[in-house]
Amino acid sequence: MVKEQISSEEIIALEDRYGAHNYHPLPVVLSRGEGVYVWDVEGKKYYDFLSAYSAVNQGHCNPKIVSAMVHQAQTLTLTSRAFYNDVLGKFEQFATNFFGFDKLLPMNTGAEAVETALKLCRKWAYEKKGISENKAEIIVCENNFHGRTTTIISFSNDPVARENFGPFTKGFIKIEYDNLLALETALKNNKNVAGFLVEPIQGEAGVYVPSEGYLAKARALCAQYNVLFIADEVQTGIARTGRLLATCGNCSCSDKNCSGEPEVKPDILILGKALSGGAYPVSAVLANNNIMDVIRPGNHGSTFGGNPIAAAVAIAALEVVRDEKLAENAEYLGHIFRTKLAAFAETNDLVNLVRGKGLLNAILINDTEDSSTAWDICLKLRDNGLLAKPTHGNIIRFAPPLVMTEEQLNECISIIINTISEFKK
Ligand SMILES: *Cc1c(COP(=O)(O)O)cnc(C)c1O
Repeated sequence: MVKEQISSEEIIALEDRYGAHNYHPLPVVLSRGEGVYVWDVEGKKYYDFLSAYSAVNQGHCNPKIVSAMVHQAQTLTLTSRAFYNDVLGKFEQFATNFFGFDKLLPMNTGAEAVETALKLCRKWAYEKKGISENKAEIIVCENNFHGRTTTIISFSNDPVARENFGPFTKGFIKIEYDNLLALETALKNNKNVAGFLVEPIQGEAGVYVPSEGYLAKARALCAQYNVLFIADEVQTGIARTGRLLATCGNCSCSDKNCSGEPEVKPDILILGKALSGGAYPVSAVLANNNIMDVIRPGNHGSTFGGNPIAAAVAIAALEVVRDEKLAENAEYLGHIFRTKLAAFAETNDLVNLVRGKGLLNAILINDTEDSSTAWDICLKLRDNGLLAKPTHGNIIRFAPPLVMTEEQLNECISIIINTISEFKK
């Protein structure tokens, strides 16, 4: 078979013509990846500062993960859960030990795992907490991002994600993020609250880091009112924020930098994205027996959830995080990144603010949300060999693979600073 040479422009035209227009990608067409780098079809090399929304924490085509995937793909790919496969149990044992929970329920995508957590929470509320039928409510935060299903967008407040997709699912109460008083008010005098679903850092909203102690206090309030604390760590988990988990609930990582924030152990932990190292969709919901036991045969499932490839890939992805000390590296490099960019922001009118944790960071561009400044800066960054994407208009997220070296990071910081310094609106 002759491999056709096809240009970036031609590929973009193909997607434009034959694909649904549900994304607005930066115009760059990638055909290869390795570690912190990706290459476009013309052979130009870039630093990837998105990491597929933090799915590729372990680096592109991580050899250990790819090798586990290829081996499993040649052995057994799918049995469905109608039969046992010989990898799922090993993955469940490995991951529950790794994160410190009794049980795991495997799914494929982040949105499915969030849906699973919502169903689990409701069922627990009826069967264990004693909420009367169809009355359960789950508290969520404004500006959340938990995925794209009909139920999940029911409690989004992004008009673009919601418009003309109704009617919506009931049973959600929206409160301000990072506001303990709002949480306590919502919990008080409402016996029907089953859970509180929260992102430890709001990623899609623009990398909003809550005040110190917020998560621990929110967790304590949930315990006080017998409400499940549900952490959506699909983006923040698996070493991204400088710890194994942003909530670091009873984690088994060797990270000794956990002194800042207290450990917060969620009742339900939701993982996705980097649980797979970006190689193959894997997501999971973890909880202890008193919660997970409400799920019985037939209550929930997925044809592909828990398939042997996914299970093998996820074990390898977690082993890489542990063995290559990616949490520690993210913590170390994150400090350098924020320190240098904060110093630059002092001297540059275009950058208002730098914020984040570990290697999940963002800069706020000094322009209106509907301006194209952040987008135009990202185009220039692309030209200079670094790929990043604006989130919510004037915010640029910087989230490289966690396998980056200090030398590479310093080169990237130079690219970012030089690009913005030379930028003219
Ligand atoms: C990406 C993301 C999801 C959804 O994951 P998908 O795999 O895209 O369905 C859910 N929650 C958070 C916090 C995310 O960042």
